[in-house]
Amino acid sequence: MERRKFIGDTAKLTALALVSSTFINEKLFASNSSLSEQNLLTIKNNESMIISANYQNVTTTVKLKGKDVKIHALCTGTVAVKTNFRRKKGIGELAKLNILLDKNYTEFLPIWVWVIEHPEGLIVIDTGENAEIKDLDKYLAKESSFIRYQFKHACKFNIDPKDELNYQFEKVNLKLDDVKLVALTHMHLDHTDGLKFFPKQEIIVGDYEFNHPNNNMPSTFPSWFKPNKVVYKQNRIEVFNDAYPITASEDLLYIPTPGHTLGHSSIVFKTDDFDIIFAGDSSYNQEQVLSGELAGVHADYKKAQQTYFNLTEYAKRRKTIYLPTHDENAGHRLANKVFLV
Ligand SMILES: [Zn+2]
Repeated sequence: MERRKFIGDTAKLTALALVSSTFINEKLFASNSSLSEQNLLTIKNNESMIISANYQNVTTTVKLKGKDVKIHALCTGTVAVKTNFRRKKGIGELAKLNILLDKNYTEFLPIWVWVIEHPEGLIVIDTGENAEIKDLDKYLAKESSFIRYQFKHACKFNIDPKDELNYQFEKVNLKLDDVKLVALTHMHLDHTDGLKFFPKQEIIVGDYEFNHPNNNMPSTFPSWFKPNKVVYKQNRIEVFNDAYPITASEDLLYIPTPGHTLGHSSIVFKTDDFDIIFAGDSSYNQEQVLSGELAGVHADYKKAQQTYFNLTEYAKRRKTIYLPTHDENAGHRLANKVFLV
C-alpha cells in the first residue's frame, strides 16, 4: 500500500514538474497567484452580502416517534474552490492536474455543520472550519511542501473567528459541553478543524477512512485526537446495505459513500416522515448527483459514480433530503423539506 502511494505521489510530482517546465505553465502560475488575489478581494466584497443573505443558519423540526426533534444547519464560514475542483475536467487522473492549472474559482460556498437534538443526546456531524486557516503557510507549516502547494492552488477560505462553531452554538442556544457524539464523514480539514471544541466527546470516523486517508493533514488534528474507528455492520439499510448504527434506536446510521475519499461516509437520519442524508463531500451539491457530474477532486471516480447511483436509488424508495457540506441550497432544502427525487 505504501509503495503504491509512493508511486502515485511520484507520478503526480513528475506530472507537475513537466507542466511546471512549460511556457504555458509559467504564464498560468505567474498570472494565477496575482489574479486570484485580486479576484478574491472582489469576490469577498460581493460575497459578504451573499453570505449573510444565503448562508444563514437554519433550524428545523422533524418528528421522531411522534416527538419533535430539532436539527440545526450552522455555517462555519465559506470556501471557494477551483471550478475544476468541483467539476471534473479531463480524462482520469489528469483531472487532478487541471485543478492546479485552472484559473477560476467557484463562488464562496458554505461549510455547514449539522447538529441534531436527538433524544439519545446532542449529535454533531462534521465540525467545520477555523479562522486560523486564513494564514495558510503558518497553519500548514508542518505539512509537506507538496501538500501545501496542492492546497494553496485548489481552494481559498473566508473564515471569521465569529464563524467558528463556539459562536454558532451560542446563536442557537446550545452548549458545546452537551454534545454527546461527533460523527466525521471524512478527515479533510474543513470537516475536522472544529474538533478542537470537542476534547471530551466521543468522535467516530470510519475505520477505512482513518487507515486509508486521502489528502488529509494530520498536523492540523488536535494532539488528543483518537477517534472511535467504526466498522459497518451488514444488512442494516436498503441499497447501501452496510451501516454502523450511531444511536441505539438505529434511526441514525453511518453509511458508506466512498469516492470523494476511499472511506468517506454519510449519515442517514430516519425520521417519521422522511429521511435526511448528511452527505459530507459525497458531492458538492444536489445537482451533481442528479446529473452524474463528478467532482475533479474525488479520490476514486468509479466509486463516486456508484455512490451517486446508490443515493438516487435510495431516494427513489424513501423520501430523502440530501445535504452535502458545501451545497449553497442545503439550508433551504432542509428548511423547506425539498427531496432529492
Ligand atoms: Zn473533503
